[in-house]
Amino acid sequence: MTASNNVHPHEIHKFGSMAERWWDLQGEFKTLHDINPLRLEFIKRYAEISGSRIVDVGCGGGILTEGLAKQGAEAIGIDLSEDLIDIADLHGLESGANAHYQKISAEDMAGQQPSSFDHVTCMEMLEHVPDPGSIISACATLVKPGGMVFFSTLNRKPKAYLLAILAAEYILQMLPKGTHDFKTFIKPSELCQSTRAAGLELQGMVGIEYNPFRKRFSLGKDIDINYIAAFKRPF
Ligand code: SAH
Repeated sequence: MTASNNVHPHEIHKFGSMAERWWDLQGEFKTLHDINPLRLEFIKRYAEISGSRIVDVGCGGGILTEGLAKQGAEAIGIDLSEDLIDIADLHGLESGANAHYQKISAEDMAGQQPSSFDHVTCMEMLEHVPDPGSIISACATLVKPGGMVFFSTLNRKPKAYLLAILAAEYILQMLPKGTHDFKTFIKPSELCQSTRAAGLELQGMVGIEYNPFRKRFSLGKDIDINYIAAFKRPF
């Protein structure tokens, strides 16, 4: 696997085809909007956002990137979907956020700007690429020594199949059908193995839990479905 082919074109097309509705708070990406404050809360437990330079890998339409910028970061979002980069740019202009976007792969960015970012975020993206390990090692290269790298993804557990695919896509229709493929989900142990191989140290991991009765997300102990983790690049 080389940097330039660590991509599933159908994934880029799938997300890009929904670009115009990315910022619709009640649309297909409602879940990403709903969990965004929780992601920011988790990041703040480990990193000072304000005044830092952060790259958001696989940024989509920029939901997290803008959130980081609004908290005072110089935020750079990268993605391989041109349509999403355009939407992210446009939304950033409208909202006046200090966010900038570039269509480039994580691996190419790592080649151009190693050790250049105070922190790196990569959310809900690893399960959409052929070789997540290559993205993880690119993120580890992008961050400065002493900086933090944050990943979130879905756990390859039967419970995640039932809730993140059957319930979320088909029953509750919280996500478009076909958003996720169970085979690509990543166990926390696998994420930790790849991050360790990339020289990163685990600092903390929590679940992003959903209460279907209250229709609310929260951070909690259950990492069986969706989870978010913080890693440090040692000095
Ligand atoms: N991180 C964003 C969007 C998640 S959706 C958020 O959580 O709010 C997954 C994103 O990954 C899509 O924008 C898709 O275009 C992007 N993506 C998929 N494969 C990629 C690759 N190889 N390189 C960069 N981005 C990729």
